[in-house]
Amino acid sequence: MAIASINPATGEMLQRFEPLAEAEIASKLNQAQQAFEQYRRTSMVQRAEWLNKAAEILEGDRQRFGKIITLEMGKTLKSAIAEVEKSALGCRYYADNAAQFLADVAIATDASHSFVRYQPLGAILAVMPWNFPFWQVFRFAAPALMAGNVGLLKHASNVPQSALAIEDIFLQAGFPEGVFQTLLVGAAEVANLIADDRVKAATLTGSEPAGISLAVAASKQIKKTVLELGGSDPYIVLESADLEAAVSTAIAARTMNNGQSCIAAKRFIVVEAIADEFEKRLISHFEALKVGNPMEPDTDIGPLATPSILQELDAQVQVAIQQGAKLLTGGKHLKDRPGNFYLPTILADLPIHSPTAQEEFFGPVALLFRVANIDEAIALANDIPFGLGASAWTNITAERDRLIDEIEAGAVFINGLVKSDPRLPFGGIKRSGYGRELGIQGIHEFVNIKTIWVK
Ligand code: NAP
Repeated sequence: MAIASINPATGEMLQRFEPLAEAEIASKLNQAQQAFEQYRRTSMVQRAEWLNKAAEILEGDRQRFGKIITLEMGKTLKSAIAEVEKSALGCRYYADNAAQFLADVAIATDASHSFVRYQPLGAILAVMPWNFPFWQVFRFAAPALMAGNVGLLKHASNVPQSALAIEDIFLQAGFPEGVFQTLLVGAAEVANLIADDRVKAATLTGSEPAGISLAVAASKQIKKTVLELGGSDPYIVLESADLEAAVSTAIAARTMNNGQSCIAAKRFIVVEAIADEFEKRLISHFEALKVGNPMEPDTDIGPLATPSILQELDAQVQVAIQQGAKLLTGGKHLKDRPGNFYLPTILADLPIHSPTAQEEFFGPVALLFRVANIDEAIALANDIPFGLGASAWTNITAERDRLIDEIEAGAVFINGLVKSDPRLPFGGIKRSGYGRELGIQGIHEFVNIKTIWVK
């Protein structure tokens, strides 16, 4: 895959980049190692000052960064700007809280003095996806750098301008050279990077095959990994739910980021008693969405990020129909215009054990299922290899408690949209991955949890 920015709304090649040569990679790894030796000795106060400055740069230049994101991967400009703002929020959160999260923890034992100290590991490789090209990187980098690690970014090959802009933000913010570097390399280089002694651990957000390949390479070197992979999250609506709120949130939950979000609701599981009404309103909301130029303020859904994502999604929809799903709306690539535009789509009654029902649809396609009651809803929600974030709607306390306890997922949101928040841990179970980002848990992933015992 070439490293290039291609506008998904027009197909226009914006800029192409040469991947780094072997010698250039080696020199950047050396630089990371040398930078770490100095950087690990900097104070928390100093790191926080730099990270707050990074937040200021993000906020001050949100329009320009938002445009880069939209031009490279097609999300609407308003959501791209919101992503830049959220990245700033993530920086400020860790600038404010890291010292407390990483303070020594005293533990009484038979020693005169025993405690836990958190220390950095060194260079951490981040293999990142294109769907949130800024936020995914900052939610890795803010805690990693506050902990005293240095970062190496291998970004998705279709967002190189975002990757370079982020490197520049850290430099402009004052972080020393080598503390955060972008490596313009292809996926084939990742196994070599993780095998290198100068790289101490890795995090990957992306597809299952990419996660498996990184984890296998890392395991050969006994190096820690965090994996944030795909999902096919349930969105359960029970009879007592506020139906209008559930429907309008369902639209955002499925179509945010042009439908290309790991935590988007993908399987809508609705009890029979309200299913007709839910379906009717969902169709009418989907059909009212404006698909078009992501730079326009009134556009709801822009193009998918690449032609191959569009082809894969359309093929999945066609297979689902062959396997028995009913097409309620959409199901079409907009071929009358350039770009990767796909109509928001609803498929109903896909047989639960058909192969496509077990897959992730990475685009604006909702799968609608009807169930008799909460037991069937929970069983269906869990009948999937993934477990990222579930949304469930009810106004009955006993039902809420069951949903919280019984759904197999890294997060359960009751009467709300699943979203990431710097204050809350984020991650999955089952084939959605392992480890956590964000919150206090996120900053503890890439540190040596050192036990100290003094007599
Ligand atoms: P992807 O193809 O796996 O790409 C993600 C990153 O992995 C890119 O940097 C890519 O580089 C790299 N990569 C691809 N194949 C690799 C390999 N064999 N070894 C090492 N690195 C490899 O994923 P995507 O299609 O861009 O992203 C969509 C997926 O990410 C969806 O499944 C989505 O649910 C998941 N996702 C998960 C989260 C989460 O937090 N759980 C968040 C966002 C997205 P190249 O671009 O150079 O190929």
